Amino acid sequence: RLRVLSGIQPTADSFHLGNYLGALRQWVRLQDTHETFYCVVDLHAITVEQDPKVLLERTRRSAAQLLAIGVDPQRSALFVQSQVPEHAQLSWVLECQTGFGEAGRMTQFKDKSAKQGTDRASVGLFTYPILQAADILLYQANAVPVGEDQRQHLELTRNLAQRFNNRYGKTFTVPEPHIVKDTAKIYDLQDPTAKMSKSASAANGLVELLEDPKRSAKKIRSAVTDTGREVRFDPEEKAGVSNLLSIYSALTERTVADLETAYEGKGYGDLKKDLAEVLVEWLIPLQERVQSYLDDVAELDRVLAAGAHRAREVAAATLAATYERIGFLPPA
Ligand code: ATP
Ligand code: MG
Repeated sequence: RLRVLSGIQPTADSFHLGNYLGALRQWVRLQDTHETFYCVVDLHAITVEQDPKVLLERTRRSAAQLLAIGVDPQRSALFVQSQVPEHAQLSWVLECQTGFGEAGRMTQFKDKSAKQGTDRASVGLFTYPILQAADILLYQANAVPVGEDQRQHLELTRNLAQRFNNRYGKTFTVPEPHIVKDTAKIYDLQDPTAKMSKSASAANGLVELLEDPKRSAKKIRSAVTDTGREVRFDPEEKAGVSNLLSIYSALTERTVADLETAYEGKGYGDLKKDLAEVLVEWLIPLQERVQSYLDDVAELDRVLAAGAHRAREVAAATLAATYERIGFLPPA
């Protein structure tokens, strides 16, 4: 079985529909075909300032949401990054293999640091892609599910793996991007030309998995569409309607073509009303499952600790091999 590694940051109180339909749903599916390592990347979260109490709470909420959508801790190693110290340790070694200019070319750093002001951006934000390389290489992952926004970072990971292997002998598996079929890119409900995003979307442009489902229904019903009448998938001319069709299709497993037929002769109002219902029906049981995990934090922490132990078995072996190749003394 090929091995997959993926992580998500605990930087919001709730994941949003774009996170779920664009990434997390595939985490669940990959469990059927791959050996899966999934982590809540709290080390990455502190590259920008975090309130400690909020971070702790969000880390647990993130894990609870992953469990609730179907990440199965029996089949996947589900863990929190800071509980596996090898991530930070390997990251240091990899930082020493990375050129300063090479790191400086990462466009995500340029974008994010420009937003904060370059002087205020942390060095951690700068080295973030190298920590991400460590996350992947520690597990000898063959494949990493990536969206467009992460392509450059995966390329850096591949370069670092190859460079290290060439200099010190074969140590790391060079990971391939795993392009997932039928991931939906979800757009902002109020501005359907922009992607739904936790940092850029206004509250009513974004559906949060943990918000009051009544609110979500209202957001769908007031989503921006166009002045036409025909329910048709046409991202150029009908970005809003097309986005609603993508969401509808993804949540029901009905094809977009099937939905177009079903809404022939009906208006946008019918589409929105029905999708709002579908969404609410999906959110309610999901939120109940999340709540049940959060009601027993001790058990949740035990599940995560077990995941961390499982991850460490693999991570420690990779780190030990790396240290040996580099010329460090054997473990004390
Ligand atoms: P930010 O605005 O801070 O970048 P985000 O909303 O993009 O936040 P991330 O934490 O960056 O969320 O993304 C987590 C995962 O969800 C990534 O794999 C990303 O590609 C995916 N993702 C985020 N937004 C969408 C979207 N609108 N449609 C599809 N996938 C998305
Ligand atoms: Mg993003």
